[in-house]
Amino acid sequence: MQVFKFGGASVKDADSVKNIATVLKKTGFTNKLIVISAMGKTTNALENVIHAYFNDSTKVTDTIETCLDYHLDIISILFPKGHAIFETVHTLFKQLGNFLELNKSPNYDFVYDQVICYGELTSTHIVSAFLSENNIKNQWIDARELIKTDANYRDAHVDWETTKKNIQDTIQKEGLFVTQGFVASEGNNFTTTLGREGSDYTGAIFAYCLNAENLTIWKDVPGVLNGDPRVFKNTKLLKRISYNEAIEMAFYGASVIHPKTLQPLQRKEIPLYVKSFITPENPGTYIGKGIQLDPMVACFIVKKNQILISLSSIDFSFIMEENISDIFNLLHIYKMKVTMMQNSAISFSVCIENKFNTLEPLLKKLRATYKVRWNEGVTLLTARHASPNEMNLLLHGRKVLLKQENRTVTQYVLKEE
Ligand code: ADP
Ligand code: ASP
Ligand code: MG
Repeated sequence: MQVFKFGGASVKDADSVKNIATVLKKTGFTNKLIVISAMGKTTNALENVIHAYFNDSTKVTDTIETCLDYHLDIISILFPKGHAIFETVHTLFKQLGNFLELNKSPNYDFVYDQVICYGELTSTHIVSAFLSENNIKNQWIDARELIKTDANYRDAHVDWETTKKNIQDTIQKEGLFVTQGFVASEGNNFTTTLGREGSDYTGAIFAYCLNAENLTIWKDVPGVLNGDPRVFKNTKLLKRISYNEAIEMAFYGASVIHPKTLQPLQRKEIPLYVKSFITPENPGTYIGKGIQLDPMVACFIVKKNQILISLSSIDFSFIMEENISDIFNLLHIYKMKVTMMQNSAISFSVCIENKFNTLEPLLKKLRATYKVRWNEGVTLLTARHASPNEMNLLLHGRKVLLKQENRTVTQYVLKEE
């Protein structure tokens, strides 16, 4: 069995959907499960629906309509008039509207997941129908019936035992299966999600549970490069990377692979390929056991929009184990992702990501015990295997707020002008 994952960029318009069929024609239709994200920027568009629902209900209908129209435009190019997919897509968006009309829950994260899943539900119905229309037999699978999680909406944790059993009972070899990335469900069958950009992780969950031969994630780049091409010029393709190297790159923010993707694969030594959906015949990047990095070049990872918080004690005492455990407890409660930290006898600095909009209440709590300074909108720059020369060139004229270094990694928190 092979698992393929196609992200938002690979289903962003009618031509991209056609291209999926082309990739499958080149790589074979059998023993394959394909995981698909929401089309283009649909997840952001659905976030607008949720925002309207909680903040300005007069805009709910319009925001839903915008999202529906985007999908209708795509299917009107892909399918003949009167095809059943039109009804399917209309029904999905009607369900979404009905949910919001009837919903009584004030829980933002719960509502978020019940709404946001329509991106993936719609895209997979469209791709599955398009493949069928082109005589590529396939089976549409609701990932929520297979991937079970806790009820930690928007960032749910997988129940691996149940998930493995469900997947192995449902997905048999030979066929072609089409399912959604990102979505899952909790014990009461309400939808949960695995965190933004989580479809890569879904690919890894299926690959792990199916003991797949490999997982391929198809991207709009030739593979993993030594820097984000949107940020750096003259990037180089990394041909081979070890799991550990890739885990570190993803953890520090190389957004080409979701950080949770690699560990399940590493556990079973399932190779991960990152390939271009534009040139599927090219080898792309192989991530697996063995060689650390080929070619051995410096890699740079930029994570913007971080917050640097520096804490010192109010009463001149030292910042010790007890305080640090306290601080981490708060970071955990407010769901802050820590990307770097540093402590000295009298201060503790931590670089965090405010994914769940909880900075204000966190600062309030911290101020009760510490003197708090913070900087919003800072950038975390992580360099791996870089020479001092390469670092100097990169840092030229930029203001460094914090630096941390070991043999392979140098990290900087930079203030953006
Ligand atoms: P999708 O959601 O379609 O699966 P993403 O947009 O999440 O794809 O990931 C692909 C993007 O990741 C690329 O367009 C590129 O700008 C960005 N990226 C960041 N770091 C890297 C890197 N080291 N190598 C390649 N692409 C990178
Ligand atoms: N559609 C989801 C997102 O945009 C998941 C994904 O694409 O990986 O975050
Ligand atoms: Mg994505």
